[in-house]
Amino acid sequence: MTDVVIVGAGIVGAACAYELAQAGATVELLDPNIPGSGATAAGMGHLVDLDDDLSRYSVNLWHQLAPQLPKQAEFWNCGTLWIAANDAEMEEARRKPGVELLDAKQLYEAEPHLRPGLAGGAVAKGDAVVYAPVATRWLLEQAKAKVTRRAVTSLDEIQAGAVICATGAMTAKLLPELPIRPRKGHLAITDRYPGLVQHQLVELGYMTSAQGESNESVAFNVQPRPTGQLLIGSSRQYNVETTEIDPPILDRMLTRAFELLPVLRDCNVIRTWTGFRASTPDKIPLIGHLRGNLYLATGHEGLGVTTSLGTAKILAAEILRRPSPLPPAPYRPERFQT
Ligand SMILES: Cc1cc2nc3c(=O)[nH]c(=O)nc-3n(C[C@H](O)[C@H](O)[C@H](O)COP(=O)(O)OP(=O)(O)OC[C@H]3O[C@@H](n4cnc5c(N)ncnc54)[C@H](O)[C@@H]3O)c2cc1C
Repeated sequence: MTDVVIVGAGIVGAACAYELAQAGATVELLDPNIPGSGATAAGMGHLVDLDDDLSRYSVNLWHQLAPQLPKQAEFWNCGTLWIAANDAEMEEARRKPGVELLDAKQLYEAEPHLRPGLAGGAVAKGDAVVYAPVATRWLLEQAKAKVTRRAVTSLDEIQAGAVICATGAMTAKLLPELPIRPRKGHLAITDRYPGLVQHQLVELGYMTSAQGESNESVAFNVQPRPTGQLLIGSSRQYNVETTEIDPPILDRMLTRAFELLPVLRDCNVIRTWTGFRASTPDKIPLIGHLRGNLYLATGHEGLGVTTSLGTAKILAAEILRRPSPLPPAPYRPERFQT
């Protein structure tokens, strides 16, 4: 019998496979689609420390892994520049741990194309970006994991020492008792404009959009790709199940981007797409034992590429009954069980 069967071969499932295989477990993944083609391919791949234990720990793990990643994974330690529009946001920037504060002059030296009149910013130098579909496939190769193209309809029928459900935004289809809602996002990518932007640029108000429960929101988030392209985000929508582009929200998202980075108006957007984040009520993922031999690694909202590596360490420690690298309680699924 296989030691561990993982349902879902996105970056979270792949990271779990990698971690468990490193510990000597045999691992099989079940997924009807190409590994890494779900939210993992739709996202931005921004590896961002959001001032919580899991994202900070995970960004450090990415740095440890980076020297081994293939070139095509495009790991780039470009840092995040958090933009403060006014004095109130500058106060917020000052409260961020481990950042280098920029006054207005330093902000425009760092990113000359930002709109005039901003108050300053904060640079998180450890943040990076990665091309997540390639990282996913690399993690699976390293794990020497068998991947079977199969859609699972019942988790209880799988024979294995442990079963991990890593199905992201689709989780409630298999486990309707869990409060995981798909949260749609749009992204756009431009033609190549090398050197136009140096950091991942994010407005400080982004956290309000990500952590809030608003039915529809947009926030400025622009990523320079190593190719010179600019990836433009991002939107959040609940209660939409279709993958089609929604022109009004795309328009809102691009308008916000043009406001903060006016030079984008002169850039060609060559492609737009959508994807679904797996959103939990408290915006914290579900990592740990659910029942019987079933474990969860899901609900990572807009941070699952970043936190995949930390998630895998926490879950592998639980399955293998080893000490956890972080206190596991905040992530335990039982917080939503009545
Ligand atoms: C627009 C957008 C921007 C984002 N930007 C970032 C970012 O900058 N940084 C960051 O860290 N995160 C970002 N994210 C979030 C990140 O992409 C996700 O949290 C992460 O990819 C989740 O990985 P996953 O493996 O859980 O899910 P997925 O990649 O969706 O993988 C789940 C897999 O499960 C499979 N599956 C589903 N149902 C079944 C079934 N019944 N049987 C078998 N297999 C099944 C699917 O086919 C899929 O391959 C973004 C997401 C979006 C949508």
